[in-house]
Amino acid sequence: MSIVSWRNIEKAVGAPRARGSQVTRRIARAAAVLLGVALAAPALSQGAPPSGVDLSARDTRVRPGDDFFRYALGNWYSQAQIPPDQTEIGANAEVSAKVRAQLRVIIEDSARQADNPEKALIGGLFSSFMDAALIESLDAAPLRADLGRIAQVANKEQFLTLMASAPASFGASLFSLRIEPDGKSPTNVLYLGQAELGLGNPDYYLSTAFNTQKTAYRDYIARTLRLVGYAAPEANAAKIIDFETDIAKVSWSQTQRRDIVAAYNPMTVTALQALAPGISWRRYLDALGARGTPSIVLAEKSAVVAITDLYTHSTLAVLKAWQTFHTVDNASRFLSQRFVNNHFAFHGTVQMGVAELPARWKRGVDLIDDSLGQALGRLYVTAHFSPDVKKRMELMIADLRHAMARRIESLDWMSDMTKQQALAKLAAMRVFVGYPEAWRDYSGLSIDRKDLYGNIKRSMAFDWASQCATLGRPIDKGAWGPFDWKITPHTVDAFDIASENLIIFPAGILQPPFFDPQADAAHNYGAIGAVIGHEIIHGFDDQGRKIDASGQLRDWWTPADAMHFERRAEQLANQFDGYEVLPGLHVNGRQTLGENIADLGGLLVALDAYHSSLGAVQAPVLDGLSGDQRVFLGWAQRWRKKMRDDAQRKQIAMDTHAPAVIRTSAPLRDIDDWYTAFDVRPSDKNYLPPAQRVRIW
Ligand SMILES: [Zn+2]
Repeated sequence: MSIVSWRNIEKAVGAPRARGSQVTRRIARAAAVLLGVALAAPALSQGAPPSGVDLSARDTRVRPGDDFFRYALGNWYSQAQIPPDQTEIGANAEVSAKVRAQLRVIIEDSARQADNPEKALIGGLFSSFMDAALIESLDAAPLRADLGRIAQVANKEQFLTLMASAPASFGASLFSLRIEPDGKSPTNVLYLGQAELGLGNPDYYLSTAFNTQKTAYRDYIARTLRLVGYAAPEANAAKIIDFETDIAKVSWSQTQRRDIVAAYNPMTVTALQALAPGISWRRYLDALGARGTPSIVLAEKSAVVAITDLYTHSTLAVLKAWQTFHTVDNASRFLSQRFVNNHFAFHGTVQMGVAELPARWKRGVDLIDDSLGQALGRLYVTAHFSPDVKKRMELMIADLRHAMARRIESLDWMSDMTKQQALAKLAAMRVFVGYPEAWRDYSGLSIDRKDLYGNIKRSMAFDWASQCATLGRPIDKGAWGPFDWKITPHTVDAFDIASENLIIFPAGILQPPFFDPQADAAHNYGAIGAVIGHEIIHGFDDQGRKIDASGQLRDWWTPADAMHFERRAEQLANQFDGYEVLPGLHVNGRQTLGENIADLGGLLVALDAYHSSLGAVQAPVLDGLSGDQRVFLGWAQRWRKKMRDDAQRKQIAMDTHAPAVIRTSAPLRDIDDWYTAFDVRPSDKNYLPPAQRVRIW
């Protein structure tokens, strides 16, 4: 589930998690210099090291100042074919595919020979998923008990108790529940907010632009209800859509949900009861596993109040049909082929434009990743992550932090008082490279090779109980979790955990083309260097800046500095509002503001770090490219991505990240060094006069 909230993880690479394809193109590996330290050159290398730039990916007929994405990646883009079972192709998808193939070997080995308890869990769960014959013969039988429980519900009180089991089952809840550090104290607390809707985003229900999707969703609900023999599937589908449309009307938009101050509303359970009297909150919280918890934090406050009211006025018949549909929808991937196909036809084909269901083993690996990600990651790190890469990455991060400190010190719009606070926050920022210091303990979880459905339920219940056990307890600084458990060491992405002033670079992203210890320094600064810069800047973006060095919500800005920042951020948001991705479809500048601030600042910090790494030495010209040109090409080529239009539409609606094609070129327009590096002139399409270039960090 991807909930976009201030507490949630901020991703650097963005977009739906890539579920790759085979590698079609590799950025040339090369001997090089990283951090000014000469590395051993490969045997074939003579003289100057190659650049690390994929020269053939470029379309040199395009002027860099007209369209940098096309210039850097045009040839690749025009030839790239998205595999029929994928939403996208590109650098992230290719590395993810490579990682998935490596995970498959680890998992299949575990299934053959489990010489420790975690391998037994991994092997057992995978085997249960791969037993297609057994799954087929059971058909809808595993669902029977859960659907029976919904059918037996006779009143709203019973419905509430049933809904409380949602986090530990296939069921749905009208409210999202997350256990995370409290905004103003370093202990874990329950966040209660609006739930993710069936179509994902309120816009899908309310905007006429998504009418086709909404109709397809209604048909999908009807088909799903028919699969389990539910009465009047068409009529019930229409009622479920109406119910969810009413919820959409009172739900917060993605942009509103990003406001971390508005989304922090701590209150006692007694106060919640007075605010939203339609639900017996004590009963609900006790039933879901937060027994006796005296207080909670309301996230989307007005939405929770309004949804409670809708619940009060809904008939039990609608609520039961709604719960039945979502239970089947959530469980379908683990049932027989007719359920799998029905689920994929909507979630894969209609929503993302993907024609072909991925092979069973791919789905099996993804399942282990979701359910036992930390155990799997531990094995992955042992097999595929070198201590040397970790060491080099840590050096590079130190280098970037240093560059960020220099940038803060030299800002012309910020007072010394705010600068001191910013520097203190930067100094206190914690970093994980590769994997956590402490691993998650899976003991107590039981897996049965012959019971896939039960395995998933037990796994969800185990996850939720482990999270509830941390309620009221201080956050564990050595582990990733509990709410970052889904970040695994093999994830091809990087993260900022704002509430812990923590940034994470999993082992999965520390490989080419993101990070290549053999490649030219400029390439690495433009690729992984800008990723590091991006994550650091998240601590100082339009929301991160509201959090202090200890991860608490506290305003450490002078009013004048805050005003200067807001004005600059507003300018950047307006710039991004102007970018059109598909005909008539624009980026939402405010929804993506934090990411765009992080991209712009991250690239600037990476450039500074590259320049200081050169010392007094002039950057070498490699493949006819200057050092700065290679930094910008390293940045662009790491964004190599081609996505299906439907997936792109969903990203624009749901995601806080702008599409890769925009992220590649948009920040460059605000960077003076880019104009110099590529001789960008006023006659070029992407030229901005210096006065219009946004300068934040
Ligand atoms: Zn980010």
